[in-house]
Amino acid sequence: MSKSGSISVNTENIFPIIKKFLYSDHEIFLRELISNATDACQKLNTLSRLGEYKGELGEFKIQVTLDTENKTLTISDNGIGMTEEEINKYINQLAFSGAEEFVQKYKDKADASANVIGHFGLGFYSAFMVASKVEIQSLSYQDEAKPAKWECDGSTQFKITKGKRKTRGTDIILYLAEDSLEFNETFKIRGLLDKYCRFLPVPIEFDGKIINEEKPLWLSKPSELKDEDYIKFYNTLYPFAEAPLFWIHINVDYPFNLTGILYFPKVDSAIEAEKHKVQLYSNQVFVTDNVKDILPEFLMLLHGVIDSPDIPLNVSRSSLQSDGNVKKITAHISKKVADKLSELFKASREDFQAKWPNVDLFVKYGMLSDEKFAEKAKEFCLLQNTDESYATISEYIEQVKPGQTDKEGNVVVLYTGHADEQHAYVSAAQNRGYKVLKLEGPLDNHFTSYLEQHNEKVKLKRVDSDALDNLIAKESATVALLNEEESKKLIEIFEKVNSTSEIKFEASALSPDDALITITESEFDRRMRDMSKMGAYAMFGQLPKTYKTILNTNHPKAKQLVSDENGSDLKASKALNLAMLAKGLLKGEKLTNYVKSELENL
Ligand code: ADP
Repeated sequence: MSKSGSISVNTENIFPIIKKFLYSDHEIFLRELISNATDACQKLNTLSRLGEYKGELGEFKIQVTLDTENKTLTISDNGIGMTEEEINKYINQLAFSGAEEFVQKYKDKADASANVIGHFGLGFYSAFMVASKVEIQSLSYQDEAKPAKWECDGSTQFKITKGKRKTRGTDIILYLAEDSLEFNETFKIRGLLDKYCRFLPVPIEFDGKIINEEKPLWLSKPSELKDEDYIKFYNTLYPFAEAPLFWIHINVDYPFNLTGILYFPKVDSAIEAEKHKVQLYSNQVFVTDNVKDILPEFLMLLHGVIDSPDIPLNVSRSSLQSDGNVKKITAHISKKVADKLSELFKASREDFQAKWPNVDLFVKYGMLSDEKFAEKAKEFCLLQNTDESYATISEYIEQVKPGQTDKEGNVVVLYTGHADEQHAYVSAAQNRGYKVLKLEGPLDNHFTSYLEQHNEKVKLKRVDSDALDNLIAKESATVALLNEEESKKLIEIFEKVNSTSEIKFEASALSPDDALITITESEFDRRMRDMSKMGAYAMFGQLPKTYKTILNTNHPKAKQLVSDENGSDLKASKALNLAMLAKGLLKGEKLTNYVKSELENL
């Protein structure tokens, strides 16, 4: 009973094409073969439960054996097995038709290989990415089944003969190809098994050890799990990472199937968060931790596991993005995450606040990129004031000092992008009873615009912009210490010692307690420049800088300067240098000269 035949594929050179397309991802062959072996065990288990198989099940096990001398890799299972007819049906016809479809679809797009995801459900035939010859030895579970052997050298010719397997199950023997001898290494195979198979339900033995002892925690019932279990599982996923802040256990079975555990990591930078990636599984088989295009970008800052058989893995990434299931799944995850945060916020504001520095970036990223998320998040998104107190967005706006408005009647919220660097301005504002919002994070530039767009009649002004002086001037005495002529003279004194064209002086009757001289910059100009720095609007890079410099005509020193006929230059120059120093404008040679002259005058 020997049989040989031709596999029904029109394309003669199917394997070179498969090889080429899957070039970067050859290693997935092992995942595919072990999934098949796992399925074979589970199928028999099901038949037994249904009473269709009455024999002993025994202990299911998948044995992976590498024979480095003969360069063979064998995957053996004691699952359902295949008869000769089944091999014919499942291996020769069905599987090849899948491969053929693949080739038909992609043969004209050789150059597009980079865009083609490495996860084709080619299953069994992916073995030919690394093997020059593949052999199947199988014995079906059915009574009186005869062992069958199938072999194929990667051409379209196969051969089925009598097999030699004595016990139920299947051996897949790969004769490793000369260009794939990297897989003829024990450490390499162990690495792949660890990566792809550590959460599979059937024990997998390699090199004398069971490699999948970890429990896929996400499949357990949340009610049966303790915090320690979640933390322990996090550590198995990311061995050296700090403990997570909190987590979300996802468990959906309608209208799609999705399980998983997502962790909020304890990190405060995106780069750090992205070091440990969300791992995507399909029925407990690791698929990828490159979840770009599957998860919205802000969710990629999370860690953990998502498992869904409904995410199609055998299509290209571009179609994945537009896939209806994937969209539903990501929308669901995003909603779950917002709900969890909202729940934590409501349960204990104090705890939530303590965790805020670690979730700040995440929540803002989510709000900026996902409208639905933002809708929920605006209730719990916290703003931190420079006095370290926290408030929600609406609370913060309500707390703004009465009358803190601009000419158009907008509420003016003062903020600082760097409380240390802008300290002089922050303390000037605080002394006047103004609140100053801390917006120091990497996304806060965008977040200021977001706040303005989503809160009518609210404008954010950086504390070193001209807004603060406008506010102060509005409430200060209009009667100035200097008369109009003296004010003009004060400006002249400063213009004389000023050497930069960027600084323009203006006299303003602030309070005697306010600084004699303050350099400010229009909020608009500064934002434009910040944007151009981020590469968004290169043309603004050439915008001339101007700094409106306020001279306080109510300051006692102002009176002195205008009355002093001789010594005013030196004092004005010193005052200007100090103001520039406070604004961070004194740099390079000017700074060196200034420090030198001060030291000489000690
Ligand atoms: P898929 O797994 O996507 O159906 P494959 O090409 O991987 O496609 O396998 C084709 C079929 O061959 C499987 O559906 C299964 O019926 C059969 N098969 C493959 N490997 C085994 C195995 N180890 N034991 C039993 N049957 C197998």
